[in-house]
Amino acid sequence: MPELPPPDTSDAATAHTPTQASPHSDTQAGATKRPAPASTGLDALSADATGAEAWAAFGAAGLLTRAYRGGEIRDGIDPDGLADLLAATDAHCSIPATLSASVQLATALPLLATGTGPAVERTLRRTLTGRATLALAATDTSAGTDLTALRTEAVLDDGWVTVTGGKEWIANTTTAEAFLVLARHHPGRHFTSFSWVLVPADAPGVSTRPAPSTLYASSGVGHVTFDAVRLDRAHLVGRVGLGLPLFARHIAVERLAGALWGVALCRRILQATRHRLADRAHSDVTLWHLPHIRQRFASCLLRVQELQALADRFAPDVARRHDTRAAAMLKAAAGTTVPYVLGECAHLWGAAGFADGGIQEVRAQAALFGIGGGATEIVLEALADSADQILGKLARPALQSELATGPRTPA
Ligand SMILES: Cc1cc2nc3c(=O)[nH]c(=O)nc-3n(C[C@H](O)[C@H](O)[C@H](O)COP(=O)(O)OP(=O)(O)OC[C@H]3O[C@@H](n4cnc5c(N)ncnc54)[C@H](O)[C@@H]3O)c2cc1C
Repeated sequence: MPELPPPDTSDAATAHTPTQASPHSDTQAGATKRPAPASTGLDALSADATGAEAWAAFGAAGLLTRAYRGGEIRDGIDPDGLADLLAATDAHCSIPATLSASVQLATALPLLATGTGPAVERTLRRTLTGRATLALAATDTSAGTDLTALRTEAVLDDGWVTVTGGKEWIANTTTAEAFLVLARHHPGRHFTSFSWVLVPADAPGVSTRPAPSTLYASSGVGHVTFDAVRLDRAHLVGRVGLGLPLFARHIAVERLAGALWGVALCRRILQATRHRLADRAHSDVTLWHLPHIRQRFASCLLRVQELQALADRFAPDVARRHDTRAAAMLKAAAGTTVPYVLGECAHLWGAAGFADGGIQEVRAQAALFGIGGGATEIVLEALADSADQILGKLARPALQSELATGPRTPA
């Protein structure tokens, strides 16, 4: 199997180098974007590759299965392999392209792998080798944060499932060979009312259009409509009625992926900003010498270290047990840390940050960390629901119980 190009961790990358106006140059906010070594088979991948192009390149190089334990998708996520893949994608590609990969690696493919049958196996095989992309279509035309209100219907009858409805703001829509669709087969909000259906993009009744977003166009983000799409029941994925429990399990991994990617992204942007500050003359020194700037930068270093520590602490719980509380913790941390760090860095770039393709654009794209896959408010609410368990785990009762037996009698 070809070697995955490691993300740049060399000290040389922090050396003082002259800077250009755009953070997409080699020495600025795009500092770790560089052509892949030829040995990886990724050499044709350019920094402005779309999500589908990046996916095809990583798939052709045989790298996508590294996200899974032993390279086998049904054995679960390998957090280190997933982190390596996300860091490599982030180093080579844009945020929209990395989003396109992250949704597939962490959620769409593992969720599809809970199914069986020829349609599922074919899509898995084609997607994991980069020959196709797969969209995960949960967010409905109703409020995305109100998942159980979704209106897309799957009507089940003898041997058939008919899908009617629509999904909005779905990554990979404009390129997908198939959609993994969360639909209701019962009215009401009960958690057993939902199921997953694998809908081929070329099935009669499927139509797509790009979302009106320059910022995320290269993720293939778009809207999809299902007009009485009739499929045989082999296209149902997982058991009927298990749609929401499966979603909860697998969105947990997407939340872990967000934290792992967030660390890689913050690191890359901080490194580029560090170069920029060290190069930017101010008085007789540079901006990097100003105490306020150094402290502001150090606060960002602290935040990204915290995110890394949380990811290290909770990755095994999410990967092995799909722990939704641990995942909420990671999502809340990434959703606040990434926008904070990128906001601080963008500010420190001054006017240059507003150049086309500059860090202000990156910052705007990265705001999705606080919205996609569960808005920050939703995951904070989940943490509040678990307040007693979280506080219980922080307790250290050993000495306290000893002290509770009363003061020792002096000898
Ligand atoms: C580029 C991009 C790619 C995406 N890719 C996918 C994909 O691949 N698959 C998919 O299924 N979806 C995808 N989405 C959709 C994404 O998951 C939703 O945008 C997200 O779940 C939020 O839903 P919404 O946009 O409908 O926000 P709304 O539900 O309209 O909420 C708007 C805001 O209201 C606030 N809010 C909402 N509910 C609460 C609450 N209970 N308490 C406090 N505040 C609240 C939050 O601040 C929230 O951001 C993508 C979105 C984008 C922009």
